[in-house]
Amino acid sequence: LIQLYIPMNFLGVLYREVKQSLADLDKMFTLLAREREVADAPGAVALQVSGVTVRFEDVHFAYEPARPILHGVSFEIPAGRTVAVVGASGAGKSTLSRLLYRFYDVSGGRITIDGQDIRQVTQDSLRRAIGIVPQDTVLFNDTVAYNIGYGRTGATRDEIEAAARAAHIHDFIVAQPKGYDTVVGERGLKLSGGEKQRVAIARTLLKNPPVLVFDEATSALDSANERAIQAELKSASQGKTTLVIAHRLSTVVQAHEILVMDAGHIVERGTHEALLAAGGRYARMWALQHRRPEDTAQDPHGHQVA
Ligand code: ADP
Ligand code: MG
Repeated sequence: LIQLYIPMNFLGVLYREVKQSLADLDKMFTLLAREREVADAPGAVALQVSGVTVRFEDVHFAYEPARPILHGVSFEIPAGRTVAVVGASGAGKSTLSRLLYRFYDVSGGRITIDGQDIRQVTQDSLRRAIGIVPQDTVLFNDTVAYNIGYGRTGATRDEIEAAARAAHIHDFIVAQPKGYDTVVGERGLKLSGGEKQRVAIARTLLKNPPVLVFDEATSALDSANERAIQAELKSASQGKTTLVIAHRLSTVVQAHEILVMDAGHIVERGTHEALLAAGGRYARMWALQHRRPEDTAQDPHGHQVA
């Protein structure tokens, strides 16, 4: 029995070790798949952030050389302001956020932060300055606490919980038998699209970087949750340089500038009021999204009630 017990126990340890290293490999591949695309320039220095102004200058980009995706995109997000990007799916909106985070390098033009070309600074310093809530969040096969805390190394459990509360995911987490120690991801608890988005929002709120990118960050949430979290995102982005990629136009009304993208071009730009007055593509999108029954209700005199 003793003879049997030892190898079994040994196998158990080995199994746990292999399993652990597989989980780590998973993390590595997730990161590597992205990192592989770019490398630090020789002699790259840390990004120096002051006010934090983000500029895209005549940016061209193609994932594959034969198929250009962005055809000369220029805009500026002044320090502390919000620029919104709207447009049909496939227009190249998410590509903007991937280029800013430098998952890929531009093929023409440049992107600067406070005047520094992002290709000339270390990726590490660049990514510390930017928080992205992506359209599709990939979670690590690890605990919820790890997945949120990943936003900022050394975060305490209290800070993680505060971020989770702000992202309206705390109650869901504590309802799980293991609470914040619940393992999520492919080999753990499967989260819905909306739950994953809220974990990603908590992660970014915890990271609290000077530049924020919300890429349809609340698209998988029901409208009550979305309204509540939009309010949190709005307060989180106060004074931060923010790029909002929006599917619901009601979230972009306050933006400093709204860019309407189509097939890799900015086809319209301006404030909400200016774009409505121009009566172009944005105005038509707005009208479509706001054609709800109550908008077309009539008063007793037959006038349209706005
Ligand atoms: P949007 O966010 O506006 O819906 P994207 O920026 O995600 O659009 O995509 C723009 C175009 O780039 C689309 O035609 C899409 O198919 C293509 N694309 C996106 N990611 C990749 C990729 N990794 N490889 C090749 N093409 C891609
Ligand atoms: Mg997108």
